[in-house]
Amino acid sequence: MTAKILDGNALSAKLRESLRHRAAELTAQGCQPGLAVILVGENPASQVYVRNKIKACETVGVHSEKYEFPADTPPEKVLKKIAALNADPKIHGILVQLPLPPQFDEDEVLEAISAEKDVDGFHAENVGLLAQGNPRFISCTPYGVMEMLSAEGISLRGKEAVVVGRSNIVGKPMTLLLIAASATVTVCHSQTRDLAFHTRRADVLVAAVGKPKMITGDMVKPGAVVIDVGINRLPDGKLCGDVDFESAKEVASLITPVPGGVGPMTITMLLANTIESADRAAGK
Ligand code: NDP
Repeated sequence: MTAKILDGNALSAKLRESLRHRAAELTAQGCQPGLAVILVGENPASQVYVRNKIKACETVGVHSEKYEFPADTPPEKVLKKIAALNADPKIHGILVQLPLPPQFDEDEVLEAISAEKDVDGFHAENVGLLAQGNPRFISCTPYGVMEMLSAEGISLRGKEAVVVGRSNIVGKPMTLLLIAASATVTVCHSQTRDLAFHTRRADVLVAAVGKPKMITGDMVKPGAVVIDVGINRLPDGKLCGDVDFESAKEVASLITPVPGGVGPMTITMLLANTIESADRAAGK
């Protein structure tokens, strides 16, 4: 069997078309959706992510503002900027690009963002709402994965889902969304004893680890849906996922590539959250 490849670029383009219409409607009502992005330091990967997010805003008509601070900026200065953006009616989403330099307490910074503008969905209040099954903002990467599954008409009810990785950004919210969709969910992490035992049971396997090609074809159940969240740079400069695509695609029924799978969906869901937030602001 050779798996069908889930094209995140194509689905993103389709979703962005409808987001562009929603943004235009809101703009016509005098409430153009606005996203503020804060970048601290000179991490090259973060610079690329921020640039891509700003560019994506332009493609759908979302207003964007970028605030860059040098790596040695005192946290108070960034917190002051967040407070100003919280009060700015032009801004409906605030995003602080992680990781932050060591003098920052990341939780303190994320909690400083108004929960109503927390389009990344990292604020404790929004994590709590998601855990209760009543989300305000869903973190963009797991949200993108759910959209991909839904676009393929995959029902999760009663399915065995295995998530590899338990981070606050991907693994945990992914788990909560799969539970809400009535899958039976197993979460694996660095202390899991026999990883392959679990992954081989998965009807839907989500890899979010950050280790190049660690999930090989022999760890995949025949016919499984394989979602590769990992983004790893190989020594030759090429990107690859956490799944060994070549061997896994011979076993799976559906698989996401890296690049071109979950990555573009993450940015699209950031736009969706920003527009959703502007919608709520316009309705007030
Ligand atoms: P983290 O480093 O925060 O978390 C990695 C998780 O993997 C941890 O829970 C860790 O376990 C687990 N892990 C580590 N080693 C193993 C192992 N040998 N077996 C099983 N589990 C293991 O990473 P993130 O969640 O932030 O990101 C994961 C990957 O996804 C990265 O490659 C990142 O670049 C990518 N990513 C992609 C995005 C996209 O848009 N496509 C967005 C965000 C991230 P433990 O908790 O025990 O340490």
